[in-house]
Amino acid sequence: MIIDCHGHYTTEPKDLHRFRQEQTKAAKDKLQMPSKAALKMSDDEIRESLEGAQLKLQRERGTDLTIFSPRASGMGHHIGDERVSLEWSQICNDLIHRVVSLYPNNFAGVCQLPQSPGVAPKNSGAELERCVKELGFIGCNLNPDPSGGYFNAPPMTDKWWYPFYEKMIELDVPAMIHVSGCCNPAQHTTGSYYLNADTMVFMQLILSDLFKDFPTLKLIIPHGGGAVPFHWGRFRGIALNNNRPELDRIMSNNIFFDTCVYHQPGIDLLTKVVPIDNILFASEMVGAVKGLDPRTGQYFDDTKRYVDQAQGLTAADKQKIFEGNARKVFSRLKIKSPAR
Ligand SMILES: [Zn+2]
Repeated sequence: MIIDCHGHYTTEPKDLHRFRQEQTKAAKDKLQMPSKAALKMSDDEIRESLEGAQLKLQRERGTDLTIFSPRASGMGHHIGDERVSLEWSQICNDLIHRVVSLYPNNFAGVCQLPQSPGVAPKNSGAELERCVKELGFIGCNLNPDPSGGYFNAPPMTDKWWYPFYEKMIELDVPAMIHVSGCCNPAQHTTGSYYLNADTMVFMQLILSDLFKDFPTLKLIIPHGGGAVPFHWGRFRGIALNNNRPELDRIMSNNIFFDTCVYHQPGIDLLTKVVPIDNILFASEMVGAVKGLDPRTGQYFDDTKRYVDQAQGLTAADKQKIFEGNARKVFSRLKIKSPAR
């Protein structure tokens, strides 16, 4: 079975965008908030939005299950206040729940959190609990920078985050570290901001004692771990120079990278330097990099192809990347058989 651990609902019904535009405008201009009850999204519309996109690509590429969350760039934690963020998160999470209910063998839910700049992450615990206990979700996307590009939140190793980690452990769910849309004009959202955040958080983690305090905390750093695999020697050297253990020991059962690296040499490098036990298959489709590579004629985000062709991987390695590691990290994932 092939589990894609990183997919977003980027083909949402259009009334969701109408609502969010009105909500954003109301938050800025202190106008009347739009009514949540007036949102119109039918099951047929949801089916249609997936059949020609995520489901079609699952079938074409031969993947089985996508661990699915709301559009990451749409989380917009910097927009409005905590109340706005909570309402928006609940709407987006309820929509993911509808997707999973319509296609229980193709999708498993991961939630967006109602984070807001300057607000303690602890406050996101209740929505996480609702999503896990009431909606059956198996993880969350945790934003290290709710400011949307200004990186002014405490490092993820700071005690500021601890009560939220305690909630994750209580509920037995991992978090994917994932920023949202960027409002800092110096950074492109998917081209630089995402990778900058990934790289930043890895660096915070390797110099900290976070996993001594939380030995079972599981964090996924997406987009192939940002710049980390390419600069493995730099990170390893800095860790050792600071009397930290080897990176593979630090990562161990706590830090995982995905395979959202959109070319063969990138996957070859990733699988060569990062321990196989710490790599989860993912494509982030339909999302960050759409379209065909004119040199190969293949989709950039058809990452299964790269893993299939990666140099030096055994069948057992591939089984771990495609399924085994995801089952270990997402321990609440109970779906056993492929949808096909
Ligand atoms: Zn993503």
